[in-house]
Amino acid sequence: MKGVGRAGDTLFLHGGQYLKHLYGNVKRLSVIKPFDPWKSDLCTCRLKYSLHPYTGCSHFCLYCYATSYIGRKPSSPKKDFLNRLRRDLNYINRELVVEISSSSDPYPPLEEWVMLTRQTLRVLADSKIKVLITTKSNIVVRDYDLLLRTPSSIMITITTLNEELARKLEPGAPPPHKRLEAIEYLSSKGLPVGVRIDPIIPGLNDNPLEIEKLIDEISVRGAKHIVTSTYKVRFDNYKRMIKAFPKKKMLWKKLYFERGERLHGYIYLPRSIREKLLEPIIKYGLKKGLSVATCREGLGARYFKAPSCDGQHLIVEHPIFNP
Ligand code: SF4
Repeated sequence: MKGVGRAGDTLFLHGGQYLKHLYGNVKRLSVIKPFDPWKSDLCTCRLKYSLHPYTGCSHFCLYCYATSYIGRKPSSPKKDFLNRLRRDLNYINRELVVEISSSSDPYPPLEEWVMLTRQTLRVLADSKIKVLITTKSNIVVRDYDLLLRTPSSIMITITTLNEELARKLEPGAPPPHKRLEAIEYLSSKGLPVGVRIDPIIPGLNDNPLEIEKLIDEISVRGAKHIVTSTYKVRFDNYKRMIKAFPKKKMLWKKLYFERGERLHGYIYLPRSIREKLLEPIIKYGLKKGLSVATCREGLGARYFKAPSCDGQHLIVEHPIFNP
């Protein structure tokens, strides 16, 4: 059966699974939402909730997919967020992981003083809710004490070690070396950490030797898992990309608009090129002893060598389960 219910429905199709009531009393939820992979049945995530303390995102990544759904604006804290969160905890299925956050970063620069994500983690830790953090920011290290109190794993995105390229691609996010330090720090505290090498963009960050260096760095600092995917074109992110990298316009036009394929509202690279770009990451990641998966690529088991894509499986390695 195909077709997807809205996230607020009690019937929900996700990654090919037909679900009924597994998300708890969805109609009562205000800020914790069933994870909706933008209606893509290429999504291989296990069931989970998503939670966004902030709307918008001050990292302003050029390739961001969320902007075509919610616009491009700086992070701002959601109103009455903590009270709504506390209420929601009465209605969720506590077996499921809560991801913070799937389509806005929970650690934008203002989190340093607003501390809304920190307060969110305190509420979740008091209830021992399973948490998956997804971020590009080293501010997350501040919260290691709360992350140690609740079953959790942390995924940190690093698209390149090239600081100049990262500054251009992710102008509001901390530089790659800070993110590497965060991996090392959290790992040294016993917390399970993985890395999103995501997205791989042809002609920008797809050099296999550079990617090997990145995998060497993250593995030596304690990362246990990689998830990766190729850049997918949406018209708004493409406009930003060609404005910032005009010399790549011809290459991308050919790869995406002449040879690419349309899937779920995105323009993908042709399958053969996606395989060529992702295969070295899978192989080298496995060689270094990490689990490796791809995200929304639909490339099959050869490109999925992990119990989960998004890093949820790392939670069993949390010190709470391994005293
Ligand atoms: S950190 Fe994520 S949500 Fe924020 S701008 Fe970058 S890609 Fe978009």
